[in-house]
Amino acid sequence: MISVKKAQSIINDNIRPLGSETILLKNVGNRINCQDIIAPFSVPSFDNSAMDGFAVRAVDTEGAKKYSPITFMMVGVSSAGVPSNIILQPGECVQCMTGGKIPEGADSIVIVENSSGFSDSKTVEIYKEANIGDHIRRQGEEIKEGNVIISKGTCITPGEIGVLATFGYEKVSVMIKPKIAIFVTGNELVEPGNKIKSGQIYNSNLYMLSGLAEKSGVEIVMSEVVKDDKNSLRKLLSNALQICDIIISSGGVSMGRFDYVREVYNELGVQEHFWKVAQKPGKPLFFGTIGTSLIFGLPGNPISSLICYVEYIHPTIYDLQNRKRDSKHRAILVEDFAIDNKKHRYLFGQSWIDSSSGKLLCSPSSKRGSHMLTATLESNCILESPPCKQGLKAGDEITINLLNWRNF
Ligand code: AMP
Ligand code: MG
Repeated sequence: MISVKKAQSIINDNIRPLGSETILLKNVGNRINCQDIIAPFSVPSFDNSAMDGFAVRAVDTEGAKKYSPITFMMVGVSSAGVPSNIILQPGECVQCMTGGKIPEGADSIVIVENSSGFSDSKTVEIYKEANIGDHIRRQGEEIKEGNVIISKGTCITPGEIGVLATFGYEKVSVMIKPKIAIFVTGNELVEPGNKIKSGQIYNSNLYMLSGLAEKSGVEIVMSEVVKDDKNSLRKLLSNALQICDIIISSGGVSMGRFDYVREVYNELGVQEHFWKVAQKPGKPLFFGTIGTSLIFGLPGNPISSLICYVEYIHPTIYDLQNRKRDSKHRAILVEDFAIDNKKHRYLFGQSWIDSSSGKLLCSPSSKRGSHMLTATLESNCILESPPCKQGLKAGDEITINLLNWRNF
C-alpha cells in the first residue's frame, strides 16, 4: 500500500500531454488554449468616444454654463464605423457617437445632455466646461499590441470567447480533449427505469462518473455496464484500450471473490503501477498504463469512486491538456475531524465564508460512510487530512478541495 502523495506522483510521471488542434471560434467553449494568445493590435485601436456627444477642444469650452452657453461651429459627424477626417479648428466641434473616432484636434467629449442637442444646424450650444480627456477611450488603454491576452492552459469560457473575437481570432489552437471510457461492474446493478429485485441496486456510478467527466471536459467514447464476468470485461476493456486516453472502471477491484477487474487489466497487458492507496475511502484504487493510455480502477462504493475521481482523475484530465489546476484551499474546521493515523482521510463537507470574520470555515458531512452518496447533496467540497496521530479539532485548519460545480 502506498501513500496518497506517492500515488499522485506515480500518476504525474505517466502523464503525457495530448496534442493540439485548431478549431473555429464558435466551437472553442470549455476547451483549453494551448499557447499564449497575443494581442495583434492595441485595444482600443484608436481614440474613440465613450459617450454620444461633441468632440471639442477643452480650452474652447472654458466658462460654458447652462445660462451662458458657448456656441460652437458644427463641422461634421463621427460615428462608430464612419470616422470623420476633419481636423478640428478653434471654436469647432464634431458630433461624435459612442465608439466614433475622435477627430484630430479634439481632446475631449461634451456629452449631448450638456448641449443644445444633435441636429443638422451649423451651430450647437455647449452648456458645460470640458476637461482634457473627458469621455475619451484612449488607444491601447485596455490592452497594448503584443501583450498576452489569454495565457496557455486557460479554459476558454464566454469571457475568453468574447476577447478572442475582439481581437479578430477566427480560429484557436486548443488541446485535444482526452477520450475516455467508463465501465461500471457488478452483477447487482440494475439500470434506472427497471424494476429492482431484492439484493439488487440501481447503477448510480455510471451516471455520476459521466457527469463528472463532462465537468472535467473530456470526450466520453464508451460507457458500459458490465457483469462480474471475466470474458465480457476482457472484450470491452480491450476495445477501450485501443481508442481511449483514459479508462475508468468502477467496482470489482477489491478483495471480493468476483472482483476480476485487476486480473483482467493484467491479462490485457496493462502495466500495474499501484493497487491500494493508504486512504479512506478509496483504498483499493488501481492505476496502470498501457502505451499512453491511463487506467484507473475505482472502487465501487459511490463515495469512494467520486473522491478518487475528483482527487486523481480530474487533475489528470487537466494535466493531459496542460490546463492550470484548480488550487486547494485551507479552511477552519467548526467541528472535530475524524482523522486516521495510517490513512489519508477524505470526507465530503460544506465550506462557507463567515460573514462576521470573513474567514473560510468548513464542516464535514455527518454522512461518513463510503456508500452514502447523498452526502454530496449537502456538500460543496472534500475535506482532507493526511495520516496523523492527533485528531483535528474545531478551530484547526484543514485542506479543502472545492467542487467548482457546487454552489459556494
Ligand atoms: P465493489 O467495489 O465492486 O466491491 O463494490 C462496492 C460497493 O459499491 C458494493 O456495495 C456495490 O454494490 C456498490 N457499487 C458498485 N458499483 C456500483 C454502481 N455502479 N452504482 C452503485 N453502487 C455500486
Ligand atoms: Mg462489485
